[in-house]
This record gives sequence, C-alpha cells and structure tokens, in this order.
Amino acid sequence: MAEQPVTIIGAGLAGAEAAWQVAQRDLPVVLCEMRPHVMTPAHETDLFAELVCSNSLKSNRMTSAHGVLKQELRLLGSLVIRCADEHAVPAGQALAVDRNRFAEAVTEHLHAHPLIEVRREEVTTIPDGPAIIASGPLTSPALAAAIVALTGSERLYFYDALSPIVSAESIDYEVVFRQSRYDRGDADYLNCPFDRPQYERFHEELLNADITLHKDYDASELFEGCLPIEVIAARGIDGPRFGPMKPRGLTDPRTGRRPWAVVQLRAENRAGTMWNLVGFQTSLTYPEQRRVFRMIPGLEHAEFLRYGAVHRNTYINAPTLLRPTWQTRARADLLFAGQITGVEGYVESVGSGLVAGINAARLVRGLDPLVMPAHSMLGALAEHITTADPDGFQPMNANFGLLPRPHATRRMKKAERRKLQAELALREIERVVARELER
Ligand SMILES: Cc1cc2nc3c(=O)[nH]c(=O)nc-3n(C[C@H](O)[C@H](O)[C@H](O)COP(=O)(O)OP(=O)(O)OC[C@H]3O[C@@H](n4cnc5c(N)ncnc54)[C@H](O)[C@@H]3O)c2cc1C
Repeated sequence: MAEQPVTIIGAGLAGAEAAWQVAQRDLPVVLCEMRPHVMTPAHETDLFAELVCSNSLKSNRMTSAHGVLKQELRLLGSLVIRCADEHAVPAGQALAVDRNRFAEAVTEHLHAHPLIEVRREEVTTIPDGPAIIASGPLTSPALAAAIVALTGSERLYFYDALSPIVSAESIDYEVVFRQSRYDRGDADYLNCPFDRPQYERFHEELLNADITLHKDYDASELFEGCLPIEVIAARGIDGPRFGPMKPRGLTDPRTGRRPWAVVQLRAENRAGTMWNLVGFQTSLTYPEQRRVFRMIPGLEHAEFLRYGAVHRNTYINAPTLLRPTWQTRARADLLFAGQITGVEGYVESVGSGLVAGINAARLVRGLDPLVMPAHSMLGALAEHITTADPDGFQPMNANFGLLPRPHATRRMKKAERRKLQAELALREIERVVARELER
C-alpha cells in the first residue's frame, strides 16, 4: 500500500528543508506554497526559500553560534545550507549568498525530486494526517485563523516587540548593581545607572539613531506597554525616564543616591548567562543598537546575543503547544517548523525544518521522533522554546547562552570555552547521524 504523504505548508526556508528531509527518507511529500497566487508583504518571487531581507546566513566561524548551527546542519545533510554554500558570494567569514541563484537551486532540487508533489495553493485549514506547518512569520490570515481555532487566540502572536539580550560575561559589574525596586522581593535585576548628563546624551542619540527600513508595523497597533524605546524618547526628554528607565526605588551603592535614570536587566534564562534590556524593544538598525546601547553605563562592551526588533511576526506559544521534537502536544502527527515556532532567523528556521522533516518521516515509519542532544545548537534551541516561560514568550536566535556550560576543572576564556562547546555540539550531532544511518 502506498505510504501516506506528509503535507508541508509553506516552501520557505523551513518548509523547503523539511520537504527534502522527508523525501530523502523515501516518503512522499505534498508541498503547498501559496506564492505566486497569494503573495506575502515581504516576498517578491515565486521561488522557494526566498530570503526576504539580508542575503547573509551569518558567520561561518566555529566560535559563533550560527557557525556551529550551520555546521550541524551540514552534517545532517541540509539541502538549504548545501545550496547556500554552492551559491556563496564573498563576505569575509560570513556565509552570504547570491539570493536568486540560491533560491532557484533550492526550488529546482525540490521540483526535480520524484517524491515531492508541489501544489501552488493557499492552505486555509489544518490538514488531517501527517503534516508540518511552516508558513512563516507572514502566515496568510486564513491559515492564521485556522491555527487560532487549534491553539486558542491567546497562543498565537502577530507582532514581535523584542528587547536586546546581552551576554552576562560582557556586563561591567563594577558599574551595574543588583537590586529590585524598593528592595522588594529578591534582587533579581541588574541596574545600569545614569547620571543626568549621561542620560541626556543617551536620549539625544536615541532620537538621532537610524531605524530599520523594514519597519513593517503600525505603531497604533502596538500595545502602549511595548512601544519602541525610540518612540517613547520622541515624546520628550523625560519619556524614557518616566517609563522603562524610571529610577524609582533604587539606590546606587557607589553614590548612595538614586540614579537619574536606569536601564534594568532581567535574566533571560535560568543559568543567568543571558540578560534582557527590560522595555527596550526597538526598531534601531543592528549597528545603531550596538552604538547607542553601548552608551548605557555598564554595557560599554556589551555582546549582543539577540538584537531588539519590532516587526510583524506570526508565532505560536511554543512552551505550551510544542514538544522538543517540534510535534504539537495535542496531535503527535502535526508538527510546526520555522519562524512560526518562535525561533528567530534564517538558519534557525532551516534547522527546525530539518528536524521536523526527519521526525515527520520517523513518525510515518513508526519510529520514535528524535530530540536533538542538549549540547547541540539544534537541541538547545528546541529545549529553549519548549521550556521557556510561557508568559510573555518571545522568539529566540541561536546563541551560546542557550548551550549548557561545559564541565571544566579551571576557569576558561570565552574563546576557549566556545571552541569546546562547538566541538561537543558537533560530536553529538555526528552521533545522531551515525544512529540515523544505522536504521
Ligand atoms: C520582513 C522580514 C525580514 C526578515 N529579515 C531577516 C534577516 O535579514 N535575517 C534573518 O536571519 N531573518 C530574517 N527574518 C526572519 C526569518 O528568519 C525569515 O522570515 C525566514 O524566512 C523564516 O523562515 P520560514 O520558513 O519560517 O518562513 P518563510 O521563509 O517566510 O516561508 C513561509 C512560506 O509559507 C508560505 N505561506 C504562508 N501562508 C501560507 C498558506 N496559508 N498556504 C501556503 N503557503 C503559505 C509563504 O508564502 C512562504 O513562502 C525576517 C523576517 C521578516 C518578516
């Protein structure tokens, strides 16, 4: 009897990779893509795996999280990363691609595969049978409504208002101090104190900074509670100081006085390796975030693990809805992949598509789905999005802060530790590959 096909909704970065993984395991795929009949606000072609903005898949270095993630994907036989490598353009240590040739190559490979049937149609209902929803941050409204019917409206978000996250080791602890307002509760926050001249210079630079060209949100649709910091700054010199930068109830131990303003940092993970700039969602470009936010006292050498953003982004509440195998908790044969799961970025989307594809195929074959190892970047991402605090869940990039710290008998420099973490991650993925091949 012919095997039941896996239906994949969306031939973007995640869906294209997922389709390849299923088909390479000798199972039929129905790949549904609504373009060109229905376009999204960002896509311009009918090609699969279209890069909607930058043509960079970020660094190839093994001391960068994206370098490790891409290498894991190469080991696991990713079609998308292979096409990216084949159509790379010179970009130093980054993997940047000729976007058309890259997307054309992915499209041709999928069209040529005998087990993949491509349907150019908008899907408006959740399919029965094995399926992967990979419809991306710009999921069509009709499908979004069907997802709401499945998950409940409070579990599907339409906008991202992300604050930057910095690494714990890049914070200057001589300057920041740990305290909660009025000393209530545990001292959970790190406070970056400003005096008045520092604050005024910072405010001026916030107003002067360049904002991203892809500002695809309407400020009137954002909640007052998640306005970009530069919008608050534009309301007047005291806007931020009476808002997210209010210093009330805080005393700087170095001066014994209340600072003129503060930026509060809140731990983003249990290990305390990543710290979120509270209330600093922003549309500043990435270089401007580096320039302006490094003016914050204590963050002069900040390493940004995730940049702030405000943009349209459809994503589900993964901590309540997904398992680390990318299956839904409610229906074992229904998986999600890509940006709609709450991973953020091109390579992260490819990664979740790859694992979702492998797992959809395993489920059809009656095998247990894989949970990627905790020490791999793929495993750490899945673990993060499925165990994060469901209240206020926000998308996440690949970064070293997600990986468990390696056991070490002595203090290690950052570069040395990352090298070790990268080696461990790749070793674990090699083991997964070896086990997969045994079947
Ligand atoms: C404007 C914008 C700019 C971005 N810039 C960057 C960047 O520079 N770097 C970066 O790393 N990340 C960026 N991202 C984030 C993210 O990495 C990309 O959006 C990435 O393409 C996500 O991959 P995906 O496969 O989840 O979704 P997509 O690549 O968007 O693929 C989803 C596919 O599903 C299709 N689809 C949607 N609804 C339906 C339906 N009902 N039926 C059938 N098909 C459907 C769409 O047409 C699309 O082809 C950006 C996101 C946006 C919105």
